[in-house]
Formats: sequence, C-alpha cells, structure tokens
Amino acid sequence: MTETGHKFDPTILREYDIRGVVGTTLRAADARAIGRTFATLVCRQGGGKGRSRKVVVGYDGRLSSPELAAACVAGLVASGVDVVDIGVVATPMLYFAVWHLDADGGIQITGSHNPPDYNGFKLMMGKKPFFGSDIQKLGAMAAEGDFEVGSGKVEKKNVLAEYAGRLLKDVRPGRKLRVAWDTGNGAVGVSIRAVVDRLPGEHYVLNEKVDGTFPSHHPDPTVPKNLEQLIAEVRRRGCDLGIAFDGDGDRIGAVDGKGRILWGDQLMILWARDVLKMRPGATIIADVKASQALFDEILRAGGTPLMWKTGHSLIKNKMAELGAPLAGEMSGHVFFADTFYGFDDALYCALRLLNIVAGAKESLATMRDKLPQFVNTPELRFECAEERKFKIVNEVKARLKKADAKLSDIDGVRVSTPDGWWLLRASNTQAVLVARCESANEEGLGRLKADLKAALAASGVALPDEAAAGEH
Ligand SMILES: [Zn+2]
Repeated sequence: MTETGHKFDPTILREYDIRGVVGTTLRAADARAIGRTFATLVCRQGGGKGRSRKVVVGYDGRLSSPELAAACVAGLVASGVDVVDIGVVATPMLYFAVWHLDADGGIQITGSHNPPDYNGFKLMMGKKPFFGSDIQKLGAMAAEGDFEVGSGKVEKKNVLAEYAGRLLKDVRPGRKLRVAWDTGNGAVGVSIRAVVDRLPGEHYVLNEKVDGTFPSHHPDPTVPKNLEQLIAEVRRRGCDLGIAFDGDGDRIGAVDGKGRILWGDQLMILWARDVLKMRPGATIIADVKASQALFDEILRAGGTPLMWKTGHSLIKNKMAELGAPLAGEMSGHVFFADTFYGFDDALYCALRLLNIVAGAKESLATMRDKLPQFVNTPELRFECAEERKFKIVNEVKARLKKADAKLSDIDGVRVSTPDGWWLLRASNTQAVLVARCESANEEGLGRLKADLKAALAASGVALPDEAAAGEH
C-alpha cells in the first residue's frame, strides 16, 4: 500500500548513519519516517512472513533524543514491528541488546561526538550494520511512501545488568590498578558505574552525569584538547592510566600514567599481541590511516595484518567476512570478536586494556616507550568540494600509477617510499580530503610531506600548512 511519501533533507542520508541538525535538517517527522521505512525493510527481510518482528531502540543523552526516539518508535509500530525500548544507553549497549534479545534489528538515536544541536540514527539490520546503499534505499522508499502497515507493541526493558555482566565476564585477574575515566557527559555515564564498581582497584569517574549540553568538553577523545581534564586527573591521582569515550561510547581514547596519549593504532598493537597469544596466525584488521608500526607488530606477533578501508561499518563487515578476531581504526573504533561480538564497544575495549596492564609487570607508560617509534603527522583534514574530492584522489592515483609508484589503493592512495608512507583519501562523510604521513625520522617526514604537496598541487589543490587535525 502506498501512502504519502516523506522527503528527507538529502544531506542527512550519510554513508554510515543518518545525521542532521535538529530543527533544521532533522525533525520528529523524519524520525517517524525512518521508523516506518526501517520497519518495512525489517518485515520484508528473510522468510517467515507473518511472524512478529522485533527492533530494539535506544538513545543517547542529547536533549532532542527522547522526542526523536518517541517519533521513531511510533513509526516502527505503525509499520507493524514490535519495539523494545531500552532507554538512554551508549551505542554499544544497543548493539548488545540486539544480540542478547536476538532482535531483528536495532536503532540508536545518537549524535555521537557532534555538537549538542546535532542528532542522528545508527541502524542495525539483524546483527549487521545498515549503511551505504541501505541508507539511500531507505530514503527512496520513504519518498515513495512505500510502508508496511500494522500495529506493533512497545515494551520497555532495562538491559544494564545483563550488559555489565557480559562485559565483566572477560575481566582477567591481575594487579590492582588505579584508573581515571572520563565519560564526557556522554551516554557511557549510564553504564560506567555498573562496571567499574565491580572491578578491582580504584576508579575515578569524571563527567559521569549524562548531559547533552556537554558542559565540560566536547566528547571526542581523538582531539587532544578534550583529554586535558583526564590527563590532569591521571597526574593528580597518580593513576596507572586514563580512559575516555566519545559521546555515544563506540570510540575509545587512552592516556598512560604519565598523561601521554596513546592513539588508536598504538593501542591496537597492545591488543593485537594479546589476542594473538590465544589466536596465533589470526588476521588482524586496521584501517589505511594506521601506522606501519601496527602492521609490522602484528606480523612480529605471529599474526596476519590486513589493511582495510576507513569506516566502522566497512571494517565490521570485513571482519565478519574473514572471521578476524580483532580490528581497529585510528579514530578509536575497535572491534573484538575473539571472545566478544565483534562490534565497537569502547567500554569493553577499556576492560581489555586493563587486562593487559593488570597482567603485566611493567606500566602502560613503559609499554608505550617500547613501541616502535615513528614520526608522523596526525590525521590532516582539509576542505575540498564534495563533487571534486573523489576525482582529485583518482587523478593523484592515476599519475602515481603511471610513475610506477609503490602504492595501495584500498581506500584513496597510500604511497610507500624509502622514507615511509603518505596517505590521501576522500572522507566518506564530509567534504574533506584526509592525509597522513609517517617516517622513521623528521627529514624523511619532510620529504613525504613535500611529495604529498606536489601530488596535490598537480591537481590544483594546495595542502594547507596547518591542516586541521582530528574531528570526524
Ligand atoms: Zn561514536
């Protein structure tokens, strides 16, 4: 049956999620249409027509989230799907609930680490990420008013006890640690106590209260400024380490006992070594932005490194395809599938880091000092017109191939030279180009930056001297 269609602002239908500015590009009517269309897709998924379908809905602590959640739930039930409403949760707790309740899908209403006026939707069809062409299809179906009609039921459920119990199941005994945690007023604040109160050692939680205005700092641990408060707490309390989360708890940040940041690829080295002890030879996946040190260390620890495209949905799918027990991104999305579900749960990742530190004689700071040392740029991001960004990368790639350069083109171009490597790729989510360079020394890094600059200049693009780092 065809009803009146609903047109979304096209900018909100993104690669990995639906996201917009509340009241401007994203309204309750959009949330309702997302619910109706997603439920329609769920109903048509797989066989067993007529059987009841169940979708779990959760939302973060943003001020606009309850209203958007209510509208989305109304849309789901109007298309005949039953809803389990698990209330305010971090995104990974929603993922957990989908597995735990064996639901047909899940929707998390979250603006992740974006400013308070943003909000959005992360979707799961069955146990798989729903992204890319799925999201475009959802937009097209909504525009046509292609909705199933029905009347689903809504049930409220709190899964915190089960969730915390599951995370704690993988905690290994070890020395007692003193740990500072910064939940950044994000949704991990809901679950942090249920976990840390049952851990050995001493735990200090900052910004625990869920507050969608993010009064202390922006909840994005890839930006050093956002870690300053945590670093101060680690030093003041003499902690072994500090852990931070992004606004919806699917990305982790960490600092050692000296208050120094460990980036996603550095943490991945520690986790990879740990996982490979139990799973020798296993494939470990990291994105194209990761340091060469990570790929080298996976190999040295007896694993099979695999470089893959940036993007948490893409990594998750590759991991499932290969049965890889661990994958991770520079951005702090890390996925454990050795004893866990394979989704990005930063609180779970934190426990796996605590296991390593608690089980070692040396400190995290010492482990960090022993990591292979490279000099690299952070992730450099600079604006580029949406319609030009992929073209530029393709032009650069074509010239390099002609010149017989050694490169990987899994995602953009990652060029290897005797000095190290440089990367150029187009962001899937923003009108920006992303670059990174890494070398064994400063001189090499200088030459790589010059190579990158020249490659861009040939396409008429100037690499800004101080390209903005961080942000996603
Ligand atoms: Zn997030």
